[in-house]
Amino acid sequence: MIRSPSSRSSEAATETSNILIFFSLELIALDDEYVASLVVAPAMADYLHYVEALRRFKPHILSEKEEQAINQKNLTGRHAFEQLYEELTGSLRFKLQVDGEEKELTDGEIMALLRRPDRGLRERAFATFLDTHAQHALVITSVFNNIFLDHKVDCEMRQYDDVVLPTHLSNEIEPQTVEAMMQAVERHYPLAQEYFRIKARMLGLEKLKNTDVYAPIDTEEEQLTFAQAQEMILTAFGRFSEPFAAIAYDFFSKRWIDAEVRAGKRGGAFCAALTPQHHPYVLCSFNGTGRDVSTIAHELGHGIHYSLSRKQRLVNYDAPLVLAETASVFAEIVLTKHLLAETQSKEAKRAILCELLEEMYGTVFRQTALTRFEMAGEHCPAPIPLCVVSDVGWTPTNRSPLLVAPVRMRCSERCSVKTSQKPRSRGIFKITGLSPELSRYPQESCRHPRDAHRSCTGKHTVDPASSTPTLIPDADVC
Ligand SMILES: [Zn+2]
Repeated sequence: MIRSPSSRSSEAATETSNILIFFSLELIALDDEYVASLVVAPAMADYLHYVEALRRFKPHILSEKEEQAINQKNLTGRHAFEQLYEELTGSLRFKLQVDGEEKELTDGEIMALLRRPDRGLRERAFATFLDTHAQHALVITSVFNNIFLDHKVDCEMRQYDDVVLPTHLSNEIEPQTVEAMMQAVERHYPLAQEYFRIKARMLGLEKLKNTDVYAPIDTEEEQLTFAQAQEMILTAFGRFSEPFAAIAYDFFSKRWIDAEVRAGKRGGAFCAALTPQHHPYVLCSFNGTGRDVSTIAHELGHGIHYSLSRKQRLVNYDAPLVLAETASVFAEIVLTKHLLAETQSKEAKRAILCELLEEMYGTVFRQTALTRFEMAGEHCPAPIPLCVVSDVGWTPTNRSPLLVAPVRMRCSERCSVKTSQKPRSRGIFKITGLSPELSRYPQESCRHPRDAHRSCTGKHTVDPASSTPTLIPDADVC
């Protein structure tokens, strides 16, 4: 059997985790009063947060044997599907004419074209991106459904009332806080829409398509080298704080950043850290755009946070997501402030501000919509029999924008049933079908009740008149 380094490390991690799992289980099982008497000891000060965070999982923990079995099963279940997705999407190549030349692009390279000024190129790039994914719809759909179902079964076994609760517990945040934040974001959807109306005017367009969301405001963006990106980031960080910049400098000089665009590399960007004894690493794909520079700044925010946390004990080293993202978004803002201070022309300042607003749209609005999509999946019946490629979008009043697709589907001539309403269809909609030209995605399996629909050919066509501004998929950056 041939196993990748990733598989081998996952197996080793599971093996180790199964040996050590008794420790956390016994700590969780201790009586509350007894723990309260222990944690006041000065020697426990460094472990207080760890113990409290761990014991919040008490109602959801199973026996040692069950926990070990789940860990073992995950290797061939959830983790295997995650790995399959990574490897499949990492291997995809996108054939496209760019600047008169036939090219074969990675997903990072083709998504970068969505930031080019040529509208036709953006549309062709996005259509190619979707078409190529659609060719693997069977596998991607299966991966999505199986991971979701696995999570749902896990939640049932552990008696979580809601599929989002394990995430909130891990993030050390109250569900009510997250819900209040999401509702506030949803109340402000019109703000994002207003921005996109202004952007349409700036681009001289009557209406913005989803392929225009990240279009540059002015001229072709200058292509930056990695050395220029390094210079910009270190100068920006240095203006804020020399020690801050000095930590970031190590990432560049000691080659802890994997920024090369290459075949087979996974997309997105992240900062990985293991223990306080080891320095962190950053992974990203640098295509020379301003946004790539922001992405490196973002990941270095995480990297600096991890580096400063190396004085912590192992159990306190890894920050929960909500705290971790504060450091990275802060680093991005430090870079933006520096660029605004350095830029003289009004047009260039405007372009920087637009890019910042679009980052915020991605972080705040798009993320909320995607979370609603995943939350809505909980109410789909199991087993999940069907996935459709669907255009998605939002409306100001719509709290589940991704499931109530704003695209009306018109069936074959003799079928008058529309499928734009609240999902009566079974199954989960996957997010890949965000078409720049809705008519490019006319084929979907008919999901009408059979008796209402005998004459139907089983295919729908998208009603172009129903086109609305839609969300756009983005690189997975964390
Ligand atoms: Zn991040």
